[in-house]
Amino acid sequence: MAAAGDAFLRARGRTLTAFRPDDECQWKGPFYFIQGADPQFGLMKAWTCGDTDNGDDEWGEEIKLAEQAVQAINKLNPKPKFFVLCGDLVHGMPGTLWRKNQVQDLKNVLKNTDQDIPLVFVSGNHDVGNSPTRETIDDYCKNWGDDYFSFWVGGVFFLVLNSQLFFDSSQCPELKQAQDVWLDEQLAVAEKQKCKHIIVFQHIPLFLSTPDEDHGYFNLEKSVREEIMEKFHKAGIKAVFAGHYHRNAGGSYKGLEMVVSSAIGCQLGEDTHGLRVVVVTEEKLVHRYYSLNELSSQGIEKELLDVLAKQK
Ligand SMILES: [Zn+2]
Repeated sequence: MAAAGDAFLRARGRTLTAFRPDDECQWKGPFYFIQGADPQFGLMKAWTCGDTDNGDDEWGEEIKLAEQAVQAINKLNPKPKFFVLCGDLVHGMPGTLWRKNQVQDLKNVLKNTDQDIPLVFVSGNHDVGNSPTRETIDDYCKNWGDDYFSFWVGGVFFLVLNSQLFFDSSQCPELKQAQDVWLDEQLAVAEKQKCKHIIVFQHIPLFLSTPDEDHGYFNLEKSVREEIMEKFHKAGIKAVFAGHYHRNAGGSYKGLEMVVSSAIGCQLGEDTHGLRVVVVTEEKLVHRYYSLNELSSQGIEKELLDVLAKQK
């Protein structure tokens, strides 16, 4: 199924070239995908040495964890439809010393992902900068493909967003506006096409546990959040999957589920390095976070496989 070409640049022209909309806009039965977040090569060293701006000169541990993630995914049977990485691919911010090497090392690991499992990349704050510019976003796109795009898989409509444009667009207001216009168009398309579900991927969570919680480093500013939540709710979006928090968390807003997944790389809480398995059925999403050890040794548990196998 995978087309020849660069596995890292499949997001082009605001879509994912791995999937053909003509084949994928119809419901064909349950399927699943894998969500990961924050491999963030370099954070572990930066965090332990207490210099998160410049201390990221080693990332051997994170390479091993990302390799374990790829190996665990390659062993899964049946295969996931895709593997989405929800941002903070590397720790080095745009323009910093180790970034290039971190990006290259991550690509060296990810290129071993089974060719039939497309990689889907989401931009994080470390990937485009806390206050992104046209240049930092262009640089991201050259390495990982479009920063926002949509695609269909088996009757389900997926939206990948650049949440940094929601967080701080002061250096590139025209790019924020372009994403907003595009998003409204996409939601209008989704409404017309009668998709089974709409699912969003972004790096920064709208909120961590409750829709009205205070704004902080790990969620979006309140008025921005409210506008997006209401837009998503009105469009019938089922769930938003995010990372950034390096811990598992989540909540809901009027039936819109916010799912925050912990990191493949550095943990900031009590969770384990892991990946989330998301099963999509005709009625609902069923998901569970697995530690890398658990997923690579035991695979997906029977209960989830049964949900997946259940045909109508
Ligand atoms: Zn982040």
